[in-house]
Amino acid sequence: MQCASCYYKGPIVPHNWRELPPFEWSPPNKKCPSYEYFKFRAFSPVGRGNLASIVFDDPNFPVTDSLIKIVYTCTGCGTCSEICKAHDPWTVIWALKEYLTSRGIKLPNPLPKLFANIENCGNIFGTEKPPPVNRNIPKKGRDVLFTGCFMRFTQPNLIETIIYVLRKAGLNLAWLGDEELCCGFLPGQQGDIDKMEKQAQQNVKRLREAGASRIIVSCAHCYKALRDYYPKLIDTFPFEVVHISEIYARLIEKGKITFNKKLQKKVTYHDPCFLGRHSKLYNEPRAVIESIPAVKLEEMERRKQWAYCCGSGAKAISLCYPDFSFSISKERLLEAKEKANTVVTSCSSCVLQMRRAAAKLGVEIYVQDISEIVAEGLE
Ligand code: SF4
Ligand code: SF4
Repeated sequence: MQCASCYYKGPIVPHNWRELPPFEWSPPNKKCPSYEYFKFRAFSPVGRGNLASIVFDDPNFPVTDSLIKIVYTCTGCGTCSEICKAHDPWTVIWALKEYLTSRGIKLPNPLPKLFANIENCGNIFGTEKPPPVNRNIPKKGRDVLFTGCFMRFTQPNLIETIIYVLRKAGLNLAWLGDEELCCGFLPGQQGDIDKMEKQAQQNVKRLREAGASRIIVSCAHCYKALRDYYPKLIDTFPFEVVHISEIYARLIEKGKITFNKKLQKKVTYHDPCFLGRHSKLYNEPRAVIESIPAVKLEEMERRKQWAYCCGSGAKAISLCYPDFSFSISKERLLEAKEKANTVVTSCSSCVLQMRRAAAKLGVEIYVQDISEIVAEGLE
């Protein structure tokens, strides 16, 4: 249709994204992070859609470095598919990545190394020794925590915080610990569905052996993988998958989590792309934040379905295109900083991305995971 809704008023028109006030039903002026940064239509949703139709039509179409860059600088944020129900550009781009993988293209670095790490060590870091988690926790039980390898290796203290909060609320929590493997979201999102399926099979087998019936997930990427992709890849998937913010919201409502501390602070909330837009979980994290005494939630203008990406791009953008990644983070952090000195989010990737970016870019803002602000309100 080429209507241009997915990129119009991008960088070719000098503007500020606040020129028009965003409404609940209307997208903000700045939409596609890669089009904003690279400033060529090829890097817009429709540009990639056009490219997909050419590549799908011609099996001999040359896969050049430029083509790879155009396709793999899509952050997967999904804003375009929120705008365009006619073409669902993000799904088309994902299909294009899957097709290119089937043609055996060389992925941008360091993705091949990370995929090999998942295969050899069960995590993206390529080592079998993650930092210790100082909590005794059973490996078998009905409610099983799934942390994901990213949190396991970069934020062991966040795992301790989650265990502390859920135990305090009376939940008998189990965790596979070293038996838990990468969820496979990273290769899956970059088009290698077979690798995601392999991870799904191994994780599901281990979760079954652990006696799980409900899986509690904190990372937005693991949550999307387990909730929506695993059931499509595995014949029988007998688990309920819940995000940690859903659990907190339920426990607060039942009176099992009661806050005994007033937190006199103003915070803003960043919707992780794969928790918000891709999973439609907007209300629970907000309900949790607003239930903490004296916390004031100030919303950013780009929120919920129009929230801007944090720059992580399901980790692939931060690892493959760090300059591009930091430029997105900077814009998001400055937007958050206008509203509050603390930005809360619900994904270990977003937390680390925004923390690292804030330190590197010198933006003075405190980045907090939802579990951390809950724990802070408890004691
Ligand atoms: S992808 Fe959708 S929104 Fe973008 S130009 Fe095409 S029809 Fe319009
Ligand atoms: S998913 Fe995000 S980055 Fe990718 S084309 Fe759509 S709007 Fe742009």
